[in-house]
Amino acid sequence: MGLYHYPKAQHKRAFRPRVFKNYKTYKRWLQQEFNRVCVYCREPDTLSSNLNFGVDHYRPKSISRFASLACDYTNLYYCCGNCNSRKKADWPADETNGPYVVNPCDHVMADHIRFNVVSGEMDARSAWGEHMRVLLQLNDPASVATRKNQLLIVKYCGDEIGRLKRQLTALRKKLNRGEMTRQQHDAEVVAVEADINSAIQLLNAVTGATPLPTLSKHKMALQLHP
Ligand SMILES: [Zn+2]
Repeated sequence: MGLYHYPKAQHKRAFRPRVFKNYKTYKRWLQQEFNRVCVYCREPDTLSSNLNFGVDHYRPKSISRFASLACDYTNLYYCCGNCNSRKKADWPADETNGPYVVNPCDHVMADHIRFNVVSGEMDARSAWGEHMRVLLQLNDPASVATRKNQLLIVKYCGDEIGRLKRQLTALRKKLNRGEMTRQQHDAEVVAVEADINSAIQLLNAVTGATPLPTLSKHKMALQLHP
């Protein structure tokens, strides 16, 4: 899925961690469950330090009838600091008609809100999407500017990787034509491949694709309560 785009299908949870007393313990699972992206504004946690990212209680824990869901994994979402502080204890008085902030497990998010690659803004497609856009201030100028900048970096990285790969092809041809020695060729290939790796790392950081360590189901089961 492209950077900042909302899912077009409901997410089925991949993990079932055991019950912990502190909901913050679930952050490491939620980070992988939702691919390092805030489920509400689609910002990847790799753009800067992810210290600002945390655990959102979809059904707010401050509402007494939801207090029992405080450590229920299915009620928890990976969320950036902005969205978490803006969403707060949002919950509709009318549970039948909403408006709800949509989440990727219960809703097809793209039916409610879409990323506009031209404007860098999030466009509402339903009343619930509009509620979410306003409440979470999804189009605040800083966020829109960040999205546009990140899209530019993705484009530049893609162009640069293409250019470097063409350079590798040109080096191979020069070697085949006897225009350079094998030693010269290999040394230049090492340098170009290092540049390709740097561009890929930057691309991964911008898109949230930087790999995380695998979570062991075995260790998960042995994890002690904090
Ligand atoms: Zn967010």
